Amino acid sequence: MATIRLVNVTKYYYKGQSPGIIEPPEEERIVALDGVNLEVREGETMSVVGPSGCGKTTLLRIVAGLEHPDGGYVTYDGEDVRHVQPGDRGIGIVFQNYALYPHMESQENIGFFFRLHKREDEIPERVRTVSKIMGVGFEHLLSRKPPTLSGGERQRVAVARCIARDPRLFLFDEPLSNLDARLRVKTRGELKRILARYATTGIYVTHDQQEAIALGDRIAVMREGRIEQVGPYLDVYRRPANLFVAEFIGLPPMNTFYGYINDMGEWVGDDFRWPDVRPDLHEGDRVALGVRPEHIVIQGNGAGIPAYVELVEPLFSERAHLLYTKIGRTACRVRVPASVAVRAHETVRLTFDPERVYLFDIRTGRRLS
Ligand code: ATP
Repeated sequence: MATIRLVNVTKYYYKGQSPGIIEPPEEERIVALDGVNLEVREGETMSVVGPSGCGKTTLLRIVAGLEHPDGGYVTYDGEDVRHVQPGDRGIGIVFQNYALYPHMESQENIGFFFRLHKREDEIPERVRTVSKIMGVGFEHLLSRKPPTLSGGERQRVAVARCIARDPRLFLFDEPLSNLDARLRVKTRGELKRILARYATTGIYVTHDQQEAIALGDRIAVMREGRIEQVGPYLDVYRRPANLFVAEFIGLPPMNTFYGYINDMGEWVGDDFRWPDVRPDLHEGDRVALGVRPEHIVIQGNGAGIPAYVELVEPLFSERAHLLYTKIGRTACRVRVPASVAVRAHETVRLTFDPERVYLFDIRTGRRLS
């Protein structure tokens, strides 16, 4: 186990050729990581989420030592690891594309690290232990080569290879994204079991929020090479630091409406008003109002904000409907219990839970309430 720290880590890539002796001009530069500070505590799994291209994989590769930062450094248990080769860092990595050696049987893949380090005598015991951990049916995969395995089976072998090494740090880069939906859920459960059993420090990069919640003790939300917020999922969900996090986290994400504060101290948007704002906001302040689909109710008594229902999507597993509505010209998603009778192309009246309405400073994005 280890505590991992990234300190002011910056990483540049270049659009054309990789830089030689002459520094390329700044406009050629892509800032993949922009002064990232992050601590992954001993034994915890940190999920890293963010839109495509925000730097998740780069962060992972830098922690692994597969890339070198242009600024800042990484420590394992307080030790600066810049001169420690990836193979000597005690990490187990599972990638999206499995990265197994196709010409080797699964058991050879699992044992390869030990062969490489002249520790062949450990292989049989390691393979036995790991098969037991991987559970029913795994031993049937041991004598097969990756091209003869399904995607899910390959990923199990890749995970087994990773845990056989008894790493102090697990690194996962979208390990489930090549699997179909059912297998994803099953493999997710398996990974969760393994992570809980080992209590090894881990970093889990994913596009999938559900996966991030299921596997991460905390999540880090990234945007454009920066970390916007870190915390347990519920904290981030309840108290998003800014508009970006609010709109990114949540299934489905928060609705946001742009507006300003009027001379009566009300929030005024294009299509509705909201009286209940903080006293320290001033006339003319540009403020976004946010409310999650699950914190909106449909009123039957004629009160509330009129919204036109464009589409009703059943969420069977949650016994709910997701309504795609329009308040004026602004889209607003609403989640209602399946028992609420509502049809497309009708107009409903919406009320927001005042305790769950968020306000954000449009200029800085910061949450105000
Ligand atoms: P995704 O979710 O799509 O995998 P990501 O969040 O993992 O994206 P990264 O792969 O870390 O993002 O990339 C961060 C930025 O760096 C992107 O703008 C990407 O285009 C750029 N980048 C990554 N690798 C290279 C490279 N080898 N050469 C040039 N640019 C790169």
